[in-house]
Amino acid sequence: MQELRERIVADGEVIGRDVLKVDSFLNHQIDPAFIQRMGREIAGRFAGEGVTKVLTVEASGIAVAAAVGLALGVPVVFAKKKQAVTQQGDLYSAEIFSFTRRESVHITVAPKYLRPEDVVLIVDDFLAHGEALSGLVKIVRQSGAKLAGAGIVIEKRFQRGGEALRAEGIRIESLAVIESMKAGVITFG
Ligand code: 5GP
Repeated sequence: MQELRERIVADGEVIGRDVLKVDSFLNHQIDPAFIQRMGREIAGRFAGEGVTKVLTVEASGIAVAAAVGLALGVPVVFAKKKQAVTQQGDLYSAEIFSFTRRESVHITVAPKYLRPEDVVLIVDDFLAHGEALSGLVKIVRQSGAKLAGAGIVIEKRFQRGGEALRAEGIRIESLAVIESMKAGVITFG
């Protein structure tokens, strides 16, 4: 998506060797109109797949996932990172290593929000090593629902999570693919 590549170049900040900060429109401040355009683009790529639920993980994926859900006219479920007292009973769960927090995080979804008859589209803001996405795929598998694929805003291809998951047969659509960020220079694929 050309507009996204332009926004990354204009507003993105490379931290160290492998972190991209896009706080001005995605990860701290949100540009709602732009998020809606990205949501429509992801929804369009999965039109005709019979998606009944969008699934993401809190927190930064929620805005884009909501825009995708709005465009497809389906509910959006977000996996919770900390079990709240309101979450009781059996839960679908997975352990993921958080790239930005550098720690293991337990994510959960209540079975009533993911049914075996659902067709699920996973949405997230970034794809790096694929930890978050694999955790969400595990949760979809536990539920018995069908996985339509994953829609990602920014994929950092050099961290190779996408490669491993595509090799498992998962369809992944990324709106911007970054090949490298050497010396702070962003190169798109
Ligand atoms: P992965 O699990 O694929 O290694 O990393 C994906 C998750 O880590 C995303 O949910 C995202 O929140 C976070 N993440 C990974 N790389 C970046 C990055 O370069 N910038 C930001 N802001 N978040 C990232």
